[in-house]
Parts: sequence; structure tokens; C-alpha cells
Amino acid sequence: MAGEGQRTRSAELFRRALEVIPGGVNSPVRAFGSVGGTPVLMASGNGAYLTDVDGNSYVDLVCSWGPMILGHAHPAVVRAVQQAAARGTSFGTATAAEAELAAEITSRAPVQMVRLVNSGTEATMTALRLARGYTGRRVVLKFAGCYHGHVDALLAAAGSGVATFGLPDSPGVTGAVAADTMVLPYNDGEAVRQAFAATGDQIACVITEACPANMGVVPPAAGFNELLAALCAEHGALLIMDEVLTGFRVTQAGWYGREGVAGDLMTFGKVMGGGLPAAAFGGRAEIMSRLAPAGPVYQAGTLSGNPLATAAGLATLRECDREVYARVDRAAAAVAKLAADALTSAGVPFRLQEAGSLFSFFLGVQDPVRDFGAARAQSSAAYAAFFHAMLDHGVYLPPSPYEAWFVSAAHDDEAISKIADALPAAAGAAAGVLG
Ligand SMILES: *Cc1c(COP(=O)(O)O)cnc(C)c1O
Repeated sequence: MAGEGQRTRSAELFRRALEVIPGGVNSPVRAFGSVGGTPVLMASGNGAYLTDVDGNSYVDLVCSWGPMILGHAHPAVVRAVQQAAARGTSFGTATAAEAELAAEITSRAPVQMVRLVNSGTEATMTALRLARGYTGRRVVLKFAGCYHGHVDALLAAAGSGVATFGLPDSPGVTGAVAADTMVLPYNDGEAVRQAFAATGDQIACVITEACPANMGVVPPAAGFNELLAALCAEHGALLIMDEVLTGFRVTQAGWYGREGVAGDLMTFGKVMGGGLPAAAFGGRAEIMSRLAPAGPVYQAGTLSGNPLATAAGLATLRECDREVYARVDRAAAAVAKLAADALTSAGVPFRLQEAGSLFSFFLGVQDPVRDFGAARAQSSAAYAAFFHAMLDHGVYLPPSPYEAWFVSAAHDDEAISKIADALPAAAGAAAGVLG
């Protein structure tokens, strides 16, 4: 157990970080803003576990927000990175391993060519540029609650469930940029039909999460992704399937492996970097050939295809066989069921949404959550109480109610029984808030 009192070093180091890093973190959700309290600074990870700077151990249900599908410090990945580092960390030239990683991706996902970049944000940003360059159009259609990284044009959100041109959601994003972004409610096929009927000749692309998991897990309704593909094809727009989170996590071929709907462009990240900064976007050769130097749409990167990141990604993907996905599926189902049982026993109303190994809970909600509006009806306060009780009992959950819970192939029976032990107190804490 690791109550607040046993995390003194974390608190001290975080105070120091606050002086030199805005908010003390390099990505906002890490600051515990939506659950309160002081962030825990982790010192190491092994398999299903993280150890903090005070020496407390936690079963990790964040898995670096998805990448660590094999668990932390997997021997094959560590070896690949060490060997690559010993040969030199960056050359700024083409290397053999980049084409190997690209081929690994094209063999799994329905893309003919990919370009490697450093983050999911860079992948979606460039996919938008390429879609606009390819179509000669300016409007981007996205869905409220879908996250595609911190790209200016994608930080616009709708005020309500009405089809509307977006207002910037962040200072620093100009109205001009946001005005080219149309935001629609997720899973609303009729709204998409109407948008295409009204302005179809201006829409460069539709970008969507293949299966949204950044507003909690909100799977696409039956036929929704197919409808997007059909409307894009009919109106000469491109469909960008964002698989940064789902890619190579839910199946060997990502969400595509479950639903079979390909994007004209697809974006990947997280698992394919094996815990190092690597991401990619890809599509048909005819579209990808419009990228510099083959074509006129500019894109570049000093560290793109970096040898360490490429080695970590290749080692991870090569380890991700059927057995790994079966283990991840089993662990996800077990954790979801245990948490659902504990919440039920404690009398907490909740909605569990699952899509393959992706799952999340909406506390205080019972109806199906089909869009961002419904997701926002959940009780953040109940989740905060649940989160802190789990933390104090040695389980590290996402510090936000809008994130999926992630397991790895290293989440074995022992790790799962530790989660089971922590759940009754956490469910009780959530019940206390909602009661
Ligand atoms: C994480 C994520 C991104 C952004 O990736 P970064 O590497 O954090 O820039 C984009 N799209 C989706 C669906 C994601 O989950």
C-alpha cells in the first residue's frame, strides 16, 4: 500500500519540477488536474508494474497510454534498443531498419506506403496537409470527443450537438485555422450526410478515431465507419482513419483487423514505437507519392526514423503475435469484469464500454455512451475518489475519467489479483461520492 504519506519524495520532486516546467509536467493529463492530488513520479517499470521514486510498486493500467503492450522493459525490446544505441543514436541518413519497420506496417495495415515521424500529432498534422494538398480543398471534418493530438486545426470543438464550424478550443489557435474545421457529434451519420450535402465540394477530409478511446471508449455504431468511407468516396474527400491508439493494439492489424474499413490515409503511433517516439502515416502509393521529395507536399524531420525508435518499434511489432493479443484480450476482459463486479456490489451506477481489449467505465451513467455529450454526463468526482483509492492500494489508473484503461501481455494472474484486492475499497469510495 502506498498512501499519500508514503509518497513524500514524489511530492518534493514535483514541487521542484513546478519551478522549471509549466504545471510540472510535459503533457497535461499527467498533472492529475481532473483527479486532484499530487502526481506520482515513476522511477522504473517492469512487466505489469511501475515503481515510484519512493519505492512504492503499482500495477500499471496506463501502459504509457497504450504503447507498452508487451509490458515494461520487455527483454527483446530492451536488447534491440541497447544494440541500436551502441551503433550510434542518429545519423540523419536513410537506414535499412526504417524500410523494415515500414514493411512491417504495410504487411499488417491496408496501406501501401508509410512515412515515419516522431509523434502521433505529427502524423495527423501531416495527414491533414497531405489531404488538403491532394484534394486542393480546405475543410476538415472531425468529431467532438475524438482526439488527434495537439494539431491546431484539430483543437476545435463544437459548442453543442449541432453541426457547426468550430471555434478554437485553445488560445493560440486562430479563428482562421479553426474556421476550416467542421465539428460534428460522433456516431451521427445523418449530420455527416447533411454536411456533405451542403458543402461536400469543399471537404478535403474526414478524420476520425477508428474506435474512439479518448472520451472514454465509445465504439463506432454499426455501419458508421463504412458510411464515412462511402461519403468520402462519393464526394472526392479523403478518409483519415486515426489508428494512433488502436493500431497494433486491438489486433495485429489494429481496429482495421476488427471492422475492415480502411482509410485513404491512416495514422499510427503508440504501440509501433515500442515506448520510444515513433509514429507513422500511410496510404495508397498514389496519394503518398504527393509527399516531398516524390511530390510537392512538404514534410521532414531531423529525427524521423530514428534508429533507437525504429529498433524499439520493430522489436515490439515482431513480438506481437496471436498469443500476445490473446493474453491482452484475456487480461482486459478479466480486469473489466472484476471492476464491474466491485462497482455493482458497492451499488455504484456505471456504464462499462468495451471494444476488443479497449475498455473504460463511465461512473454515474447507465445508458449507452454514443458521443461526447453522453460521456460528459459521468461523475468526475466519483472517478477521482475511485482513482485515489486504487492508487493508495497499489494500482495506477489513468488520472482522468476520459481515458481508456490499458493492460499488457504482462498482466498475469498475480497482477490481476492485486487489482481485485484494491477494487472493493475504490468502489466504496466512488459509492460514497455518488450516494
Ligand atoms: C495519442 C493519440 C494521438 C497523438 O499522439 P501523440 O504521440 O501523443 O502526439 C493522436 N490520435 C490518437 C487517436 C491518439 O490516441
